[in-house]
Amino acid sequence: MKTSKRLTSSVSVSGQLEAADLQALAAAGFRCVINNRPDNEAEGQPDSARLNAAAREVGLDYHHLPVTPGQITEAQVAAFRELLAGAAGPVLAFCRTGTRSATLWALAEAQRIAPDSLLATAHDAGYDLSSSRPQLEQRWQHRDNSPGGPPGGHRPSYDVVVVGGGAAGCAVAASLLKRRATLQIAIVEPSEEHFYQPGWTLVGAGEFRQERTRRPMARCIPSGAHWIRGRAAAFDPTRQQVTLEDGSQLGYSALIVCPGLTLDWDAIDGLAATLGKNGVTSNYRFDLAPYTWELVRQLKRGRALFTQPPMPIKCAGAPQKAMYLSCDHWRRSGVLNDIQVDFCNAGAVLFGVADFVPPLMKYVERYGIHLDFGNTLVAVDGPARQARFKLLDADGNATIVEREFDMLHVVPPQRAPDFIRDSPLANAEGWVDVDPETLRHHRFGDIFSLGDACSAPNAKTAAAVRKQAPIVAENVLSVLGGHRPRAGYDGYGSCPLIVERGKVVLAEFGYGGKLLPTFPLDPTVPRWVNWHLKKTWMPMIYFDLMLKGHEWLAKPRQLPVGADTPGVNQ
Ligand code: FAD
Repeated sequence: MKTSKRLTSSVSVSGQLEAADLQALAAAGFRCVINNRPDNEAEGQPDSARLNAAAREVGLDYHHLPVTPGQITEAQVAAFRELLAGAAGPVLAFCRTGTRSATLWALAEAQRIAPDSLLATAHDAGYDLSSSRPQLEQRWQHRDNSPGGPPGGHRPSYDVVVVGGGAAGCAVAASLLKRRATLQIAIVEPSEEHFYQPGWTLVGAGEFRQERTRRPMARCIPSGAHWIRGRAAAFDPTRQQVTLEDGSQLGYSALIVCPGLTLDWDAIDGLAATLGKNGVTSNYRFDLAPYTWELVRQLKRGRALFTQPPMPIKCAGAPQKAMYLSCDHWRRSGVLNDIQVDFCNAGAVLFGVADFVPPLMKYVERYGIHLDFGNTLVAVDGPARQARFKLLDADGNATIVEREFDMLHVVPPQRAPDFIRDSPLANAEGWVDVDPETLRHHRFGDIFSLGDACSAPNAKTAAAVRKQAPIVAENVLSVLGGHRPRAGYDGYGSCPLIVERGKVVLAEFGYGGKLLPTFPLDPTVPRWVNWHLKKTWMPMIYFDLMLKGHEWLAKPRQLPVGADTPGVNQ
């Protein structure tokens, strides 16, 4: 069988097919075959009626749309476009070499994809369509008023649509544009502001100015990407379409989904009404982190509660970091002995990677912290300064206990955003259902996800995003070029566990808790150099390297080369 070349997730082309090839095509996931070769062009060429019969026998739709090289008409382009739009699944179009079929595809898409991208995609598949550039340019220029526009009216379409312009969305778009500057990329992002969330822990300890963690979104969206100020609401993966909250729609050849996660403040009774007053605070909000520092400075005696909800949460170390930094301040101010500090943790362990528990326990003991495992915050009465916890015993029996507080630092429960949870992209837990190694969707081959919204079981951190973004960029380009994903992710995530001012345990680990230290030092030792990394270099690495596509210490690992197989789940 002739090797097929993939142009998009749903369209491939090839040279002349034989009737015997069709069974393998059906098995590879194709649903429709288009024959673009007139009968009797060459001796021995199988005629269309025979191919038609063979295709139908194996359940493939078959269409004969013969075109003569160099004489493609407008009617033929429109007919090809109609066939693609009506296909029930991946399409394989063929002619003698595949060039005519690739040209038809490019002309059919020329009102929604820029000429450079079409030519680059065809080139990646092994077809030089540069002689068609004038027609592609002309169609692109007249795309808004052309009667041959995309079916269903004007639906702007891009090579890549990115949902979310946070750490992951900006980083992955920058990495894509670094690799191919001509890509048409849209980033859907509703917020005018971009936040460096890892800085909020330091704001809550008076070590970082709040304003340093906020930048105008316009400065973070990579130049070359088109920012769509809106909110994604729904996905139609079979039509390669995203619907925004205002009802408008976007088409894509590849989709990257990274809208972060939802902080569920309302899951705790009474919390929303009292946040920011009555001694109740959280470093998980830009506007509240300064209030944490205010409370820490004011507290001289009494009881401070720090909570941690059930996993998964973003930056699993952040609830503890807030506590250690507060204790460090109280210790230096000579008031720690007069403050009872409780860590009320819904989980059963101090930290999920066992190697880091002993150094953390030393600080728990040094600060005299009470560890209350299996304690989930369920309600807060701010004016009465009372917090209610659900306690689970070893047999799973629940009881409710009330605790008084003078200061309460809350980390809210976290879950996948509703529009992801309710979409066909979600897994059973609501996260975007991706393969943990390639970050490609398990069911939709042209969809990828990274960052907090994706299902990969890594630590949800910006550090993970730094490694994921180049991997997704590589794999998106590979898939757009008709190949398998070629880069693999080892689950790297990192949590700089600040245990006191000037000392940080740099926890870096991958899937299964495997330690993955960047530097050749014992990673379990609290170090001054890590404090500088966290406080001084990390913000710079984030804004000036990661969001700009400079992949410092983040070169993607290449997967072993395998045979290319067409089809949705290639
Ligand atoms: P985000 O950066 O949250 O971005 C999501 C974006 O999607 C937002 O801009 C949002 O407006 C947008 N969006 C939401 N809904 C939609 C929609 N419907 N349509 C389109 N766009 C949408 N990480 C570390 O590596 N180290 C740390 O020390 C660290 N400390 C942390 C401390 C705190 C207090 C917090 C809160 C986080 C910390 N993190 C840390 C975690 C890190 O900030 C996140 O893991 C990272 O920001 C995830 O990136 P993301 O792009 O997936 O999500």
